[in-house]
Amino acid sequence: MREIQMVDLKAQYEKIGAEVDAAIKSVLNSTAFIKGPDVRYFEEALSTYLGVRNVVSCANGTDALQIAMMALDMKPGDEVITTNFTFIATVEVVALLGLKPVLAEPDPHTYNISAESIRRAITPRTKAIVPVHLFGQCADMDAIMKLAAEHNLYIIEDSAQATGAGYIFPDGRIKKAGTIGTIGTTSFFPSKNLACYGDGGAIFTDDDVLAKRFRSIANHGMKERYHYSDIGINSRLDTIQAAILNVKLKYLDRFNEARRAAADFYDKSLSGCNQIVVPERVSYSSHIFHQYTIKVKNGKRNALRDFLAAAGIPSMIYYPGPLHMQEAYRFLGYKESDFPVTSELCREVLSLPMHPDIEQEQLDYIVMNILKFFEK
Ligand SMILES: *Cc1c(COP(=O)(O)O)cnc(C)c1O
Repeated sequence: MREIQMVDLKAQYEKIGAEVDAAIKSVLNSTAFIKGPDVRYFEEALSTYLGVRNVVSCANGTDALQIAMMALDMKPGDEVITTNFTFIATVEVVALLGLKPVLAEPDPHTYNISAESIRRAITPRTKAIVPVHLFGQCADMDAIMKLAAEHNLYIIEDSAQATGAGYIFPDGRIKKAGTIGTIGTTSFFPSKNLACYGDGGAIFTDDDVLAKRFRSIANHGMKERYHYSDIGINSRLDTIQAAILNVKLKYLDRFNEARRAAADFYDKSLSGCNQIVVPERVSYSSHIFHQYTIKVKNGKRNALRDFLAAAGIPSMIYYPGPLHMQEAYRFLGYKESDFPVTSELCREVLSLPMHPDIEQEQLDYIVMNILKFFEK
């Protein structure tokens, strides 16, 4: 059996390597390393795939969030509500821009930001909500959109973990994650569902005026050549990464389907174990399993993790510490006990190996070891 990895980029490269090599070679021959034709081609291909008018590429998913927020003309002290159960980038960018991060609890079953908790966090200073479509499944966007409409708030969807997931509206319409709110952002970090071989990111919107601002801000705030209308940053997707993404975008649905098949097997094999809770799938979103994250009850999470590691099975804790207790964010003034749902998730979650090339033999071995741990 091949060595089990959380994400096996080598196995993927063995399958699509020839195509990727040719794409890289062609950029090397053209020497158009910055703003080469592959960048625009990728933006257009992704905009068609997502069904959104504008895709603006940038250097990474964190920059994508930053550019999105810079484009919205928010003022220092304005409040931005996001989830306490996410990767740090979401909160970091809010704080960096002098805005005030306001944290909300996740739903204990879906791990996604709770609309009810957002509602409780809204104040007259609230300007935006940043739902994160965590682990590959969309947040409850219908409820979040209603709150935003009621209070006149922007929505920036952090879809770094959900590129390709579909949100299903109550009337049956389907939209892709990141194309529902005012703005969507994503990351092409190597382990994401749609990923390059380095850093990359993108911002999505149907609003052409906002899209123009994204392009300007990502390019030093330049309006016309050497005329600057905004204070901007330098944030680009380089041509080699765009060329790789052009190859990988064609496979995205197939890769996500393979992840779902692996998740189906985990579900079927683990749902009988009463000390594990398998991830809930909601009716309003497809799930593309960026992570397959179980909850381990009765304080046994860390022991299970050690047991699996001893059997050569990696697993990861996303996320081990609630953001409100991180040293850098103490200034927000939260108390340890303010977020019981987040704190409990941080103690119970465990993400199992999940990638499109995971083999049945590996899945059998993982499941057998998990069940063996609980039989002891
Ligand atoms: C990966 C990730 C980001 C940041 O993306 P980078 O490309 O690493 O900057 C932001 N938000 C979430 C939820 C992520 O998973």
